[in-house]
Amino acid sequence: MSKVMIHPASYDTVRRAVDRVFELFPIAVSGKTVLIKPNVLRASAAGEGIVTNPAVLRAVVEAVETMRPASIIVGDNPGLVSYGANEESFVTTGLMDASKGYYQNIGNDSVKVDFNPDFMAAVSVSRHVLDADVLISLPKFKTHGLTVITGAIKNNYGILPGAQKAKLHKAAGGPLRFHEVIVDVFRLRVPDLFIVDAVVGMEGNGPASPDLRDVGLILASDNAVALDAVIATMMGCDPGQLRFLQKAKEMGLGDYDLSTADIIGELRPLPGFKLPPLTGEAILNNEAIQSYIRERIRVRPQADPDLCTGCGTCVEQCPVSALSLDHGLPRVDSDSCITCFCCQEMCPEKAISLR
Ligand code: SF4
Ligand code: SF4
Repeated sequence: MSKVMIHPASYDTVRRAVDRVFELFPIAVSGKTVLIKPNVLRASAAGEGIVTNPAVLRAVVEAVETMRPASIIVGDNPGLVSYGANEESFVTTGLMDASKGYYQNIGNDSVKVDFNPDFMAAVSVSRHVLDADVLISLPKFKTHGLTVITGAIKNNYGILPGAQKAKLHKAAGGPLRFHEVIVDVFRLRVPDLFIVDAVVGMEGNGPASPDLRDVGLILASDNAVALDAVIATMMGCDPGQLRFLQKAKEMGLGDYDLSTADIIGELRPLPGFKLPPLTGEAILNNEAIQSYIRERIRVRPQADPDLCTGCGTCVEQCPVSALSLDHGLPRVDSDSCITCFCCQEMCPEKAISLR
């Protein structure tokens, strides 16, 4: 039976919650190589809630240090295209400092492995991820325009360095197939333990929304499907209707039916939690909603001229070149746009919303 821990925490008390995680999920770390992977979406201030908070990373690093591992590496592959933003993203977020000298740019070396040929015949995975004896994933409790939630399964998307993430977005071509992609990436190296920063979460237009939500919890599990089902339930979303959880279950990776899980702590939906606008399209089993959305709604990114600085990051990150700068403001070609929302994810000014 899968186990999911739901434990109260603040960033000041997070070490106690992390110690409880390792009591409930004892993993053999002594003499092993350990890779700790926070969610480092992009360079941003820790207070923006876009990345795993440095207090959580520091607490996990310090707890693992006491277990006498052979080595510790802290790393992630931020961004969708660039290889160069790795150090910058860790420094700006405060995660470099929290890494306590264990940071490595895991994007510098990778191994080619077979992938799902429906999308790409092969992908390259960070060598450190594949070589680690123990992989500890530190997702952030956030919404996501394409996958509704970004939790344990989606955090593994960062094991792919560089532009492959954007290429896979393009190969997927739409939200539902992207749900399939993230499970295929997740399977390349299933982490051994997940510790979710749900102290301050994100709602609305995640994964880079300005709408933060005090949740006050650390969640943990050794099973990503059960853990993501808990996150979805807290967000007010039926986990059984999320395609990526359905596929994960089909592949034998776990069960989103929480009656089969041992929940240690109190599982309560967060009142009035704001889900992202594409939620309906990413949910299966409701053809009426699906066809209504297909016929009536064409969600597209739109830049707010008052916030946009014309930096061009969104244009550079768009995997299908659907954006161009027009008098300093990005314009979207609706026919080319595949609604991946990479532009919204990467905009440093949070100037892009979904309309
Ligand atoms: S990334 Fe944001 S700020 Fe930069 S051009 Fe695009 S919308 Fe404007
Ligand atoms: S315009 Fe934005 S949402 Fe559309 S394909 Fe490009 S990055 Fe994705």
